[in-house]
Amino acid sequence: MPDQFGRVARDLRVSVTDRCNLRCTYCMPAEGLPWLAKPEMLTDEELLRIVGVFVGLGVRQVRLTGGEPLLRRSIVDVVAGIAALEPRPQIAMTTNGVGLERVAGRLADAGLDRVNVSLDTIDAETFTQLTRRDRLTDVEKGMAAAAEAGLTPVKVNAVAMRGVNDEAVADVLAWCLDRGYELRFIEQMPLDAQHAWDRESMVSAEEVRERLSERYTLTPLSSGERGSAPAERFLVDGGPATVGIIASVSEPFCAACDRTRLTADGQVRNCLFSEVETDLRGPLREGASDEELAGLIQGEMWRKKRGHGIGDPGFRQPDRPMSSIGG
Ligand code: SAM
Ligand code: SF4
Repeated sequence: MPDQFGRVARDLRVSVTDRCNLRCTYCMPAEGLPWLAKPEMLTDEELLRIVGVFVGLGVRQVRLTGGEPLLRRSIVDVVAGIAALEPRPQIAMTTNGVGLERVAGRLADAGLDRVNVSLDTIDAETFTQLTRRDRLTDVEKGMAAAAEAGLTPVKVNAVAMRGVNDEAVADVLAWCLDRGYELRFIEQMPLDAQHAWDRESMVSAEEVRERLSERYTLTPLSSGERGSAPAERFLVDGGPATVGIIASVSEPFCAACDRTRLTADGQVRNCLFSEVETDLRGPLREGASDEELAGLIQGEMWRKKRGHGIGDPGFRQPDRPMSSIGG
């Protein structure tokens, strides 16, 4: 599934729901968003059929995300359905960890390979301020359950926010190192539903690196060891533990991007920041064949732009927020 610039999409991100049980300030307004109605969402059968078409087109890793993927009641069945595809793709999930304790074992049994849990702070008060929910303990238990279930290495995604958690990034790293979790910081992107992002107050990857370096010695891993992964990874105090710092805004990795995305309502997107998308749900419900669906997906990927263009004069934040695209 190549695009005009020779990139090949092998990593599919599937948003299985746009709903969420947290309200992270960089993602959603306090009151939530107008959620998709059930008939607008792909059924399990539809979702699995489309993922199968992507696999036929060369996708080798499927990441389930949202919204909060654990809020989809059938999530274990969805994982099992993807694990039954031929060739079986790697299956990962990005979750906020709330509710993971209860379901981690069943997800692993169904075929989930790995999880990324989003955790921006280990301070209970800051967590409640940032997510607008008092659920830190649930997240911690969820992460422990994931490790116990063998969903390893448990990776942790963190966003640093100025004046909120940016001064305590080294505490999050210390906490993750103690537990054997692999931490990655991601620059805050203009994908919040409120359109409140601004470049000036964004905490850059460079700043995170400087803060971490006040406590730890970070040694960059060579790009060969990184592959197409966007995270710049560093050995912490000589290793073997590592930390990732993803400069998605300040040093975009678009040239090596191998991602494609499917929303919960059946739209293919070639980029987080794309202003357009291709509908698969309509054609699928009208009886399109797998070949026809594959053609629509290929067409969408072919028009993928060279880069996300944040910072370019004509840049416009997409209408869909991160929670509805699938982060
Ligand atoms: N609810 C799940 C979670 O939080 O892990 C999955 C969906 S969430 C949209 C996926 C990831 O996107 C999370 O790691 C979250 O921190 C990140 N995210 C959300 N809004 C973001 C933004 N504006 N900039 C950068 N990352 C963001
Ligand atoms: Fe929910 Fe994830 Fe967005 Fe936070 S980042 S509000 S957990 S979808």
